[in-house]
Amino acid sequence: GPGSRLLDVPTVIEPIQDGTANAVLLMLARNSELDGAVSSVKQLEEKFNWRYHYPWVFLNEEPFTEEFKEQVAAVTKANVSFGLIPSEDWYQPGWIDEEKAKAGRDALVEQDIIYGDSVSYRNMCRFQSRAFYKQELVLPYRWYWRVEPHVSFHCDMDFDPFAYLHNNNKVYGFNIAVYEWMETIPSLWPTVKEFINLHPQYVAQNNSMEFISNDGGSKYNGCHYWSNMEIADMEFWRGEAYTAYVDYLESTGGFYYERWGDAPIHTMAVSLFLSKDKIHFFDEIGYTHEPHSHCPQNLGLLPSRCNCQVGRSIDWRDWSCYPKWFIMQGQTLSLGHAPIES
Ligand code: GDP
Ligand code: MN
Repeated sequence: GPGSRLLDVPTVIEPIQDGTANAVLLMLARNSELDGAVSSVKQLEEKFNWRYHYPWVFLNEEPFTEEFKEQVAAVTKANVSFGLIPSEDWYQPGWIDEEKAKAGRDALVEQDIIYGDSVSYRNMCRFQSRAFYKQELVLPYRWYWRVEPHVSFHCDMDFDPFAYLHNNNKVYGFNIAVYEWMETIPSLWPTVKEFINLHPQYVAQNNSMEFISNDGGSKYNGCHYWSNMEIADMEFWRGEAYTAYVDYLESTGGFYYERWGDAPIHTMAVSLFLSKDKIHFFDEIGYTHEPHSHCPQNLGLLPSRCNCQVGRSIDWRDWSCYPKWFIMQGQTLSLGHAPIES
């Protein structure tokens, strides 16, 4: 009501011009993914970054080869740098009970869960959950766009998503949302609920609980923003709430005893600690990371500016969480949006 407005100090945004955000294009990659890295960089340059020349930072727990550095640098005019991840940010910590971790991996293998047996995948998820935004080469930047090897960008972009988020007072941008393999995270939601019971002050008033739970928070429904493409403000990850949250998650060992993904971890934090108006759906960013694609719903963008098919777009499919997000945001259907099937 009008009374609460007195307590709600509005943030005053100093608008910035396209191309002037303090932003970085960020890729975690292995040397063996050179071709996929080159392909992703090339496409994002052609569709977007040739206009703005945002710098690229590549990260790896092993030194990048000269070949990797040369070939990646050859497909962009922007500044590129290559960082080595400190071992404590990457490898399984010594205090993890390896016997228990092995039992957790075996249990997932038995259930045929993807990456069930992989320790390196767990290292990666832990890194993307709690360490990428603290890397020396990343610290100077506020905004990032996460890019993976072997992804595709389908649309010519004539706007700057970093400036868009900044000027519209948003924190987190996504374009695909899907359901998690629940077997990989049995204790994650109970752990997150413990955390918010201990620190209720971090939970935002106008949060997105209804995006991540169908029963008011009792159970997690698996919905998560697909973090292989996210454009966001690292001040959120570096802030007090998220730092306390990931420290709490880390202390349980769940990254190794289970197979907690960075996507549900990011999503739960964004959903609980941010007001839902801080989250933005980038319809304009046509994108494929197999097996999912997003192609703009705004038919005005097609086909001249996008080389993708709306029919392949995940948005309104059964296995997409976008409809849930859409309803939560209280948007109304308009022409160009597929109808929600009942
Ligand atoms: P998926 O998208 O969940 O199937 O997982 P990916 O294999 O695509 O890994 C996610 C991201 O982490 C990609 O950018 C990979 O290049 C990167 N990645 C995964 N595992 C490793 C690893 O062991 N070392 C390095 N340096 N990068 C990795
Ligand atoms: Mn991937």
